[in-house]
Formats: sequence, C-alpha cells, structure tokens
Amino acid sequence: MPETAEAKKFTLQAYKTDVHVDWCPGCGDFGILSSIQQALFQLQIPPYKVAMISGIGCSGKTPHYVDTYGLHTLHGRALPVATGAKLANNELTVVAVGGDGDGYGIGAGYFLNSGRRNVDMTYIVYNNGVYGLTKGQASPTLAKGLKTKSMPDPSIQEGINPIAVALGAGYTWIGRGYSLDVKSLVALITQAIRHKGTSFLDVFQTCPVYNDLRTKDWYAGEDIGRSRLRRLDSDPSWDPVVKDPASIEEIAEKKTRALHASYEAGDSLAVGVFYSIDLPTYDQQLANKIPALKEHPLVDLPLYQRDVEPLFAELG
Ligand code: SF4
Repeated sequence: MPETAEAKKFTLQAYKTDVHVDWCPGCGDFGILSSIQQALFQLQIPPYKVAMISGIGCSGKTPHYVDTYGLHTLHGRALPVATGAKLANNELTVVAVGGDGDGYGIGAGYFLNSGRRNVDMTYIVYNNGVYGLTKGQASPTLAKGLKTKSMPDPSIQEGINPIAVALGAGYTWIGRGYSLDVKSLVALITQAIRHKGTSFLDVFQTCPVYNDLRTKDWYAGEDIGRSRLRRLDSDPSWDPVVKDPASIEEIAEKKTRALHASYEAGDSLAVGVFYSIDLPTYDQQLANKIPALKEHPLVDLPLYQRDVEPLFAELG
C-alpha cells in the first residue's frame, strides 16, 4: 500500500463529500462511514483509485458520502457490480457495502458465490437486524422470538449466522466489528482492505429508530454490568491466520474454532478477526490466463489487440 511522499498528500477531508448525510440522528451508520473514511485515509489510497459500491437500504447511501468513485446499485446487487468493477480495473480498491437485508436476504446468492471466487475486494455489511429503510421489518439476522417496535408479533424464524455462512462460502478474510467502536472498526476495515482476496466484515450496527432491542445500551450491557461484546484478541491463544494454506487440517481447525466463536450469542458476541488465509485471487488467476492483464487493467486494453477468432471458432 502506498507509503510514498506523494501518497501522503491525501487528507481525511479528501475522502469526504459535501453531500448532506441524512441518516437518522444517532444511527450507527455514522460510525461505519467515519471508519471507512479513516481507514482509506490511513492507507493513503488515492480517492480516484477507490470504488465504493452499494445496494439498497440506508447503508446504500454510503457512496454518496465518500469522495471516491461510487455506484448505488440495485437491491442485493452490490457484490456482482463490485466484482465487475474489480475485473474491469484491477488497479482499483473496491469496497462493497450494504445492509443485512440487502446482503443476506435479497443478495444471498451473490453473498455465497462471492466467497468462493475470492476477487480482491472488501464487503462490509451494516447488520442491524431490520429493514430500516422500509420501516423496520425483521431482516435475516433478527433472532427467533425477538419483536422490534414495528413488528406486530415476535419473529417465528431463526436468524442466520453470517460468519458461519461466510466460513462455508470460502471467504478468505472474515471479521466482525461494532459501529460505535470506531477505533476498532478502523483497524478492522484497514486489515480487510489490505487483505488480498475477498474480505468480509459484518458490523453490528445500531438502528435507534426501528431496532429498540439491540441498542447502544444493550451492546454496552447496562443491564448486566459488562459489555456484551467480547474481543476475540483478548484471548492470547486466539490466532485466526492459517499459516499453511495447503494444510486441510489447519484450515479445518481454524474454521472450527471460528465457527464456535461465531455461535456465541446473547450476552457474549465475538468481535474481531475470525479467519484469514492467503489463497490465489480470482483476478490473479485471470491474469495468469491473460498475461496482458499483468501489464494493464482490462479497461486499458484495446479490444483490437485481442485475437477473438479462436473464441468465435469455439462457439461455432
Ligand atoms: Fe439508521 Fe435506522 Fe434511521 Fe436507517 S432507519 S438511517 S438504519 S437509524
């Protein structure tokens, strides 16, 4: 990542637009937005080399507020558009964002398949347990038996475990943060962006308007006298990094431990890095097939330099 004198010219302000941020007062989205901007600033990635891609939901407005390239796409479609952006221009740092309804509900198929592709990009999910933009219906992560203020009855469906799904789908970096702990969130987003491969970061996000159960006080554990958030790195034996990617035993051991941590619930919610492994990315493998991509991103390759005759012949 750029550590040059030229790269240090970008101020934190360079990653902010002057678009009015119209999230509700006290929304956890503010903490995530600030963390993304601070992470990009710390990494000194030139704003013109970043693409922020969002789906639909309150979180979908994020690209409007980060002064980089950005695209506010369709419901659940942030990941395929982000994949296309990275493959078209592998010099871009691509960050996809969305809510839990957008990513784990409408976009669930893309969530699964993006894990196994391992395109070099980052996916951040603002997980608040509700569809905030459409008045607070239960989202895929709301646990069975919970009833937020706009629901007539408690949910009769189980909530999904996104960390467990991501482990199964093959994401090569998996983490979870909390929207109101900006310092830790900046560190997690920085690691996620630095990771080569698809990094997935689930973020517990407070929605004070519609989720009156998972509030700031609830996460702080006002009623039980201690925080409900347990930092994985507070355990000295916690090591989520696979040292030998060829070792099925080590992968299974690290994934099993991460899976156990992801099922902590109720009064103990694990946050931090769950799993990390270095594997060839989709874009690297593509560049091995098309060597010109190692010299120039696809977007800079004139089409006339490509010999398409073999392709036509193959297609008959
Ligand atoms: Fe934030 Fe909830 Fe308001 Fe949406 S509805 S902006 S998630 S507080």
